[in-house]
Amino acid sequence: MFERLPTPFGLVRAGVAPDHQKDKTVTRAYARSAEQSTFRFFGNVEYGKHLHLDDLQQRYHQIVFATGAQSDRSLGIPGEELAGSHAATDFVAWYNGHPDYADHQFDLSGETAVVIGLGNVAIDVARILCKRPEELARTDIADHALAALKQSRINKVYLLGRRGPAQAAFTPAEIRELGQLDNTDVVVDTADATLDPLSQRLLDSADEKNAQKNVAIIREFASRQPRGRHKQLNIRFFASPGELFGDRAGHVRSMRIIKNEPYQDQSGSLRARATEVQETLPADIVLRSVGYRGVPLAGIPFDDRAGICPNKGGRVVAASGEPIPGIYVAGWIKRGPSGVIGTNKSDARETVDAMVQDAVAGRHLEPAEASAESILALLAARQPDTVTYQDWCRIDEIELERGVASGRPRVKFVSASDMLDMLER
Ligand code: NAP
Repeated sequence: MFERLPTPFGLVRAGVAPDHQKDKTVTRAYARSAEQSTFRFFGNVEYGKHLHLDDLQQRYHQIVFATGAQSDRSLGIPGEELAGSHAATDFVAWYNGHPDYADHQFDLSGETAVVIGLGNVAIDVARILCKRPEELARTDIADHALAALKQSRINKVYLLGRRGPAQAAFTPAEIRELGQLDNTDVVVDTADATLDPLSQRLLDSADEKNAQKNVAIIREFASRQPRGRHKQLNIRFFASPGELFGDRAGHVRSMRIIKNEPYQDQSGSLRARATEVQETLPADIVLRSVGYRGVPLAGIPFDDRAGICPNKGGRVVAASGEPIPGIYVAGWIKRGPSGVIGTNKSDARETVDAMVQDAVAGRHLEPAEASAESILALLAARQPDTVTYQDWCRIDEIELERGVASGRPRVKFVSASDMLDMLER
C-alpha cells in the first residue's frame, strides 16, 4: 500500500468527525490486514511524484487505486471567492489535523456562519461549530482547531438545503444528534417542516425509511420552543445561495438566498427551482458543503463530469469500454463521494472479486521486476523518507501517549516533518 501521507487510514483519520470516535474503531479491521506478512505499507510516497504508473506496472501484477475524492465542488455563484468563503471539506481536513490544511486560517471572529448543503458533512461542520470547546477538548480534534474554536464568537449557524426535509442527504442518527446539543437551540420554521404535496406523495409511495425518519425528526425540531441557549442552529429548506457580499476588506458579510419551489422532473425525482422570493442573511463565514470531487490520476482515464475513473465493477476501462489489464479502482474514485464507511466493504469486495477472476484467468500485468526487493531499491532512491507500518505504529503510540497525558483519545501530529523528526530521534 502506497500512501501520500506518513499516516494510513485516509478519511477515517482526516474526515470522520473527532467527536465520532466510535466510527474510527474500523481502523482495527485495517490493522489486522496490515499485520499480515504479505502486506507492506509505504507512507509519505506520492503517486505521480515519487512513483509513476510504469514503475508500478514493472513491479506488480495488479494495481488498485483507492485515492478517494480529494477535492471539493464549488457553487459557481458571485462572491464565492471572497475571504471567509470556504469549502467545508477544507474545514473538516483542518479540524482533523490533515497536514496539508494545518496552516489554513478560518476566521471565527464574526457571529454568523452559513453552511450550504444538507449532507452528513454539513451536519458535522454545523455540530463542530456549535459544540462547547470543553466537549471538543475531550476529542482528538487538532490542537490548532481547538485553540481557534475556543476563541470562536459564532453564535448563529444557518444550515441551508436547496430541497426539502424529505430529500435531505443526511442520515437520521446524524440529524437527531443536532437536536441533542445542550448549548444550542435548533430552530426549524413550521412551514419548512410541513411537506409540500409532491414530497408527501413521493414519501408515501416509496420505501424510504431514512427519509421518513428524517422528516419526523425535522417536525419534532419545528415543534420546539427556543430555550435561550447560547447558540442557535437554524435549519432552512428550499433555499439556495444566490450571491455572497463582502465588506471593504473583501471579507464575506452577507448572502442573498433564493427561495425555491419543488417540481417533479421527467425521471420522477423531486427537484427545486428558483422563485422570485429572495432574502439576505448575515454571513461572517460561509462553508459550502455540496460534495467532494475526485482528482485525475496520471496515466489513468478520468471521467471529468462524474469525477471518477471510468470502470466496470472496479476494472478501469479505456475510452473503448475495454478493461485496461491490471488496473482497478475502489472507493470514492470508483463510485463517487457517496455512502458511509460500511458501503466500502461491498464496494471493495466487488473490485477484489474482479481481481481474483482476472488473476485466475491470467488477465494481469507481466511485471519484469516482480521481486519484493525491487520496490525497496526504487523508493530508497526516490523517497528516502518512506514511512513503514512499524514507523506508523510508533507515531500512533506517541499520539496515544500524548492523549493519555491530556485526557484525550490521541493528540495528533499535524505535520509530516514533525512525524519524521520524531522517528529519527
Ligand atoms: P452528500 O451526502 O452528497 O450531500 C451533498 C449536499 O449538498 C446535498 O444536500 C445536496 O443537495 C447539496 N448540494 C449539492 N449541490 C448544491 C448546490 N449547488 N446548492 C445547494 N446545495 C447543493 O455529500 P457530503 O455531505 O459531502 O457527504 C459525502 C458522503 O460521506 C455521504 O455519503 C455522507 O453520508 C458520508 N458521510 C457520512 C458521515 C456519517 O456517517 N456520520 C459523515 C460525513 C460524511 P441535493 O440533494 O439537492 O443535491
